Amino acid sequence: MAKNWYPIINYEKCVGCLSCVKFCPHDVYEVRGGKPSVKNPEHCIEFCRGCQRGAYDNNAISYLGE
Ligand code: SF4
Repeated sequence: MAKNWYPIINYEKCVGCLSCVKFCPHDVYEVRGGKPSVKNPEHCIEFCRGCQRGAYDNNAISYLGE
């Protein structure tokens, strides 16, 4: 079944702080070229938003399905 909730990174806004990668305990992210990449979207918890709240405050993270 296709997942309908997972993070989308706006790479024009991402500063590479990697706080989302460090915050998420569900192995959703990996680091590629110093920036977060969504490796396992199916692991994301619907409506969690934890990585968005913990991130550097520049709206680089949104969610498919919000
Ligand atoms: S919304 Fe929650 S489960 Fe999904 S990637 Fe962010 S911290 Fe991980």
